[in-house]
Amino acid sequence: MSPPEARPARPRFAPLPEWVGPTTRLVHGARRVDRNAGSVVFPIYQTSTYHYPAEHSEVADPRDVYLYSRMANPTVEGPEELLRSLEGGETARLFATGMGAISATLLSLVRPGDEVVALASLYGGTLDLLTETLPRFGVVVRLASDAEARAPERLFTERTRLALLESPTNPTLRVYDIARWARAADSVGALLAVDNTFATPINQSPLALGADLALHSATKYLGGHADLLAGAVVGADRVLRRVDPRFSLGAPLDPFAAFLLHRSLKTLALRVARHNENGRRVAAALARHPAVARVDYPGSASADDEAVAARQMRGRGGVLALTLRGGEAAVDPFLHRLRLVHVASSLGGVESLASVPSLTSHRHLTPAELAERGIAPGLVRISLGIEEPDDLIRDLTEALDAHS
Ligand SMILES: *Cc1c(COP(=O)(O)O)cnc(C)c1O
Repeated sequence: MSPPEARPARPRFAPLPEWVGPTTRLVHGARRVDRNAGSVVFPIYQTSTYHYPAEHSEVADPRDVYLYSRMANPTVEGPEELLRSLEGGETARLFATGMGAISATLLSLVRPGDEVVALASLYGGTLDLLTETLPRFGVVVRLASDAEARAPERLFTERTRLALLESPTNPTLRVYDIARWARAADSVGALLAVDNTFATPINQSPLALGADLALHSATKYLGGHADLLAGAVVGADRVLRRVDPRFSLGAPLDPFAAFLLHRSLKTLALRVARHNENGRRVAAALARHPAVARVDYPGSASADDEAVAARQMRGRGGVLALTLRGGEAAVDPFLHRLRLVHVASSLGGVESLASVPSLTSHRHLTPAELAERGIAPGLVRISLGIEEPDDLIRDLTEALDAHS
C-alpha cells in the first residue's frame, strides 16, 4: 500500500482532445471516466454520504473514494473540472457562494502578522472581510487607491503574503495591469489572487497573466440565469491544497446548484460573446445621448486603461456605468421609465438589470468616499443581458429621453 503522496489520485475525468476550443469544451462539459452509467447529461448525486468499502483495508488511498459531500461530491466535481480547464489551472474548488470561496481562500492563506495588499475598490463583501474580519486575527491589510494600484511595486513589502485584485472593478469598470501586479507580488514571494467575476474566463485569463489564483462569484456570469449562488477558486495544486481542503469552514456547493451551474456553463461562451456585443453597441449609443454625462466600460477611463484592457482582455463584457447629467434627482424617474431592463442588484444574467450603487452596494460610503471611487451621485450600473441590442438601446433611450 503506497502512501497517498507517492502517486497522484486516480483521475475521475476523461480529458477532451487538447485541440478543442473553449466553446466546444463548455458545450461538452466535464466527462467522468466511469461515464455516469451512460447518461449524456451529468447526473445529480443528491447525497450527503457514500457507501464505504466493507473491507477498509481495500482503500489504498482515501482520495479514491467519496466519503462525505462536504469534502467531495461527483456532481460538484463536474463544473469544477470544467472551470479548472477553462481558467488553465491545476485545481478548482466550488463553494456555496462567491463570498464562501473568497473567505475560505483568505482565511486559509494568511496568519497573524501577515500583510495583505488589496484594491480599495474591491467588491463590498470582500472589503468587509478584509477590513473587519482579518484584522481581528492580527492580519494587516493595506488598501490601494486607484492611483496606487497603477504602480503596485510600491505597495508590497517583505511581509506581504497575499494580494487581492479585481479587474474590471465594480461599478466604475476600471482595469488594472494583472501581469504587473503578478510581478510585484512575485518579487516579495507573495501570492496574487484576482477576482475574475466581471471578465469571466472567456474574456480574461488571470492565471496566464501570472496570477496564482482566479476567484469567481459564479452567481454572476458563470451561472448566468440569476437562479443560483456559487463561488469558485482556481489555481495551482500547491496553493489550493492549503485552501480549506476538508471544507471545515463549511461552505461547499450544493449538488443541485452544481447541476444548474454545469448546465449554464454549456452556453457561457455564446452568452459572453453576446454580452460583449451588447456592451459595445449600447455604450456607443448611450454616449451620444444628451441626458448622459458619461458612460464607463472597461478601457473607457483613460488611454492607460484602454492599453491595459486591450492587452489583457479578449472582450469587454456587458456591464456599463451610466452617469446621468441630472444627477441623483434624475435616477428614479429614469429607472421608473424602463420597460425591459429590471431594476435589481446583481449582474451577469441573461436579462438586463439596472442598479444604483450609491443607494445599494455602496450606500455605507460617505459622499467623499464615493467621489474618491469615481461614483457620481447620478451613476446607474447596467448589466446588459443577451436581449437584442436594438431593444435594449430603445428601452434605455426612451427612459433617458424624458430628461433631455
Ligand atoms: C457578487 C460578487 C462577489 C460575491 O459573490 P456572491 O456569490 O454574491 O457571494 C464577489 N466578487 C464580485 C466581483 C462580485 O460581483
